[in-house]
Amino acid sequence: MISATSPRFERSATKLLREYGEFSPPVDVESLARSLGMSVSFEELDNDVSGLMLIEDGVVKVAINEAHHRHRQRFTLAHEIGHMLLHAEGDRVFVDRRFFRNAWASSGELREEIEANAFAAALLMPEALVREHLDAERGITDIDVFRLATQFAVSEQAMTLRLVKLNVIEPD
Ligand SMILES: [Zn+2]
Repeated sequence: MISATSPRFERSATKLLREYGEFSPPVDVESLARSLGMSVSFEELDNDVSGLMLIEDGVVKVAINEAHHRHRQRFTLAHEIGHMLLHAEGDRVFVDRRFFRNAWASSGELREEIEANAFAAALLMPEALVREHLDAERGITDIDVFRLATQFAVSEQAMTLRLVKLNVIEPD
């Protein structure tokens, strides 16, 4: 398993949010993407495709699956921002599927997917903001995870993974 705990992603995501004055939940990832020059549209895509990104001559177009839940759409867009900032040198196409870890994925592609996910989590759930919204006095219950997920407009699964990574809760 490749580690995705690099402080690099945490720092770059936090820096980006502060630059754009977006440092409160829920992060407005769509306007952030547009501020970065991405054109974002919601399209009819195969169900297993979360999003596509086409980078050509410096023009960045992102298509998000219109049928997916808003929380997933937000994560997908944050993931594409990660690819754009971390992995795009020159023209490139990214196709993001629900399960990227398939037999075809080379280790390089896998690394990029893990990095883009780590960046997306850091962008949507910055550590400082998550900690600010925790009531550390008492233990974290499922209801707290639900409340946080709602505040940050992410799935409960994404918030759970994030809290595990931040050592707030134990993995199952
Ligand atoms: Zn990806």
